[in-house]
Amino acid sequence: MTDTPNPAPTPRKLIIAIDGPAGAGKSTIASRLARKLGYVNLESGAMYRALALKAIEKDASFDDEAALVKLAEESRIRLEPTRDGNRTLLNGHDVSARIRERDVTEAASRVSVHPRVREWMVEHQRAMGTGGGVVMEGRDIGTKVFPDADLKIFLDADPVVREQRRMEQQKIKGEVAANVAADLRERDRRDRTRAASPLMAAEDAVVIDSTKLSEAEVLAKVEELAAERLLRQ
Ligand code: C5P
Repeated sequence: MTDTPNPAPTPRKLIIAIDGPAGAGKSTIASRLARKLGYVNLESGAMYRALALKAIEKDASFDDEAALVKLAEESRIRLEPTRDGNRTLLNGHDVSARIRERDVTEAASRVSVHPRVREWMVEHQRAMGTGGGVVMEGRDIGTKVFPDADLKIFLDADPVVREQRRMEQQKIKGEVAANVAADLRERDRRDRTRAASPLMAAEDAVVIDSTKLSEAEVLAKVEELAAERLLRQ
């Protein structure tokens, strides 16, 4: 009998969670890391934004948890990963640009405080990532959506730096910039203080403070961590 060599094991596909406050650089890092690994990048925040848009369109109160859950159940919210981020589809319509506008941004932060809305989101987010090969970013991915994720990153940065980055990203100055900074602070406060899944680093997350790091430096760190996890299998 001849010995046949064991075939090389197929690399396991990791689940990578990237959490952190707005403006810390999660989206860029998550999409670049996903591209590098050949994984899918899923922006969980886009789902909260899509539900918020639905609530605006239906004139539903952002405080009415039951109505918001019903809207979520009646809607088809889909994330389609593309090279440049996620395409977000709400009942088949591409709402990717609309959900980035200020009214939806504010509403998303308000609809996301409700525990039952979060349960609905978490269930759907888990279903999208169970096979692995995903980099999912948000606020509660490491703590709630994938508590057993292979790698958890909590990406943070000084609030002033986060505000500046957001303004540069959106190429805004003056009064509009002041409004954006105030909105960001308020969203942060709401995310960190809500009772249901507040924004916090999971106990086993690697915390990266990007205040003094370039995007390339953060990416290099995260890639290194992912490579380490892949070797552990
Ligand atoms: O990440 P993004 O800014 O698109 O998220 C929009 C809002 O959705 C956030 O301000 C936050 O309140 C909420 N969110 C959340 N949990 C997540 C992702 C986003 O509560 N996993």
